Amino acid sequence: MPKNIAIYGSTGSIGTQALDVVDAHPNLFNLVALSAHSNIDLFIEQCLKYKPKHAIIVNEAKYDELKEALAAEDIEVHTGEQSLIDLAKDADFEMLIAAIVGFAGMSSTLAAIQSGKKIGLANKETLVVAGELVMEAVQANNTELIPIDSEHSAIFQCLVGEQMDELSKIILTASGGPFRGKKPNFLANVKKHHALQHPNWTMGAKITIDSASLMNKGLEMIEAKWLFGLQNDQIEVLVHPESIIHSLVEFIDGSQKAQLGLPDMKLPIQYAMAYPMRIKNDFPRMSLMKIEKLNFEGPDLKTFRNLAIAMEAMAKGGNCPAVMNAANEVVVKAFLENKIGFLEMSDLIEKSIEKIEFIQQPTLDEYFETDKKTRAFCSSLFK
Ligand code: NAD
Ligand code: MG
Repeated sequence: MPKNIAIYGSTGSIGTQALDVVDAHPNLFNLVALSAHSNIDLFIEQCLKYKPKHAIIVNEAKYDELKEALAAEDIEVHTGEQSLIDLAKDADFEMLIAAIVGFAGMSSTLAAIQSGKKIGLANKETLVVAGELVMEAVQANNTELIPIDSEHSAIFQCLVGEQMDELSKIILTASGGPFRGKKPNFLANVKKHHALQHPNWTMGAKITIDSASLMNKGLEMIEAKWLFGLQNDQIEVLVHPESIIHSLVEFIDGSQKAQLGLPDMKLPIQYAMAYPMRIKNDFPRMSLMKIEKLNFEGPDLKTFRNLAIAMEAMAKGGNCPAVMNAANEVVVKAFLENKIGFLEMSDLIEKSIEKIEFIQQPTLDEYFETDKKTRAFCSSLFK
């Protein structure tokens, strides 16, 4: 029997690669729902090819065009943010591939968890903002959240068959991004086309900028904290420019385990989609003989202040990571629109953290409120 799945964010980098995994195993997966925000041409193409039961175009201005294009098909067409939530609850599927970027992906992911669906989680921002509440919901609804982020998939795979109380720490690897080894005087002048050139991965614009600023690794530390139930001092970052070792774990006896592979997101996506099985594929294989050398170094927290900011936000807890995340979404967009410089991103995130009221144990509503207030404040800091 094929597994019924939904892919939210199907037109993005993760979404399209999840569809590549479906193409590689057409008998194993059945698409019940697809969603996109605005990329209507690609979305129409996907709907005509995969014929999901439900197609959600979030941007209401694109609804008529989608409806018309799918008029001859047996596909229910939906629009608006609320339809993401309603269908996450009501549609009949087993796993949601949560591949929407940013805070915008949180409500639908939570709704799917609350109706007992499994999650293949690419959307790390959900755990950064409200990891404690999200993991509680996973437990309460007796369901599973399988990470898609390559580092977290690596750790998850290393922990299969192990006892969590025998884990001493995890080591998240980071490529270092396109500006590894650079100093602030260089970063002050970089433009978006520099920052969008990632050495190893082709990804959506937001995560590519996060990778260049090392905010991505900061988000991933917080993601790992909640996903694996870790103390802050159990999470380390190691720069490894080749992105071959996707992360490591260390046990109480000092033994370390790592997961390796080519930098290809189809691997962790397929692992999550097929979990708990492993399925055969003909994706390119890694040869260490050809790679020859792997390199390692520590992260430069002075130059890449975003990583230091994220570590502090993780240590402070409460709504602090939610403030940081919202401010980061605002500044990344502003940087991509050439409104602020690369180094200003950290300045504005810090100012937002100083300004927005700290809440130690936020409710879900308070997380939404925090997100909204932070966006308004941070946006007021530049033209
Ligand atoms: P992307 O920008 O390529 O795609 C984002 C998708 O989300 C698109 O389908 C878009 O239509 C949809 N979307 C955007 N804004 C939306 C909104 N407001 N409401 C509803 N839908 C919206 O992003 P991506 O690179 O695929 O990343 C998706 C998520 O996966 C991010 O959280 C990212 O951090 C995470 N992730 C990505 C990669 C990668 O290789 N791309 C790796 C690890 C984790
Ligand atoms: Mg990652």
